[in-house]
Amino acid sequence: MKIILMGGPGAGKGTQANPLVERFHFPHISTGDMFRAAIKEGTALGLKAKSFMDAGGLVPDEVTIGIVEERLALPDCADGFLLDGFPRTLAQGSALAGILERLGMKLDGVINIEVDEEVLIPRLTGRRVCRKCGSSYHMIFNAPKQEGVCGQCGGELYQRSDDTVETAKNRLNVYNTQTEPLIAFYEEKGLLKRINGDQPIDQVFQDILKALG
Ligand SMILES: [Zn+2]
Repeated sequence: MKIILMGGPGAGKGTQANPLVERFHFPHISTGDMFRAAIKEGTALGLKAKSFMDAGGLVPDEVTIGIVEERLALPDCADGFLLDGFPRTLAQGSALAGILERLGMKLDGVINIEVDEEVLIPRLTGRRVCRKCGSSYHMIFNAPKQEGVCGQCGGELYQRSDDTVETAKNRLNVYNTQTEPLIAFYEEKGLLKRINGDQPIDQVFQDILKALG
């Protein structure tokens, strides 16, 4: 099974990768993890990626695409893989199509976990942190017993400045603008599987399995 896992901030994409790997026994290819590994191993591409990240910029497509191609060419990807975090733009999607063609591979599906913005905003802004001990809570997923008070030490809970509604909306806008043409690209190819992410984690997983047939 060769699939791409997509989903914006707060959609729960990260939560679905592990059960999918357990089910299909394929390598989980996360570009973020690969950059960290390549940098740690000091490969040529890793060093290149590091120079961009150190300069505070995004890793350019040619570097990302090179790393993905090296990875997909390894023997453990021959029977399947889960691509996570790549492609993110139409340009990357076209590059991936070229890689797959060179490797003689075909995608089985592109899973897109979709959640409405009014559900995503509370997910993305729900984090509260203790001023005293740093314990982290979430108003939906891990609410403190007493509002505004840390259950560990009684300290005051606060919302970090990067967890505001404005920041969340901005992140969603950036993600949607980048991925909309890519989603259309996969829809046209008949590969796109839209999954309702506003459901319990197990139900989302079952829907993904069903969509993959
Ligand atoms: Zn505390």
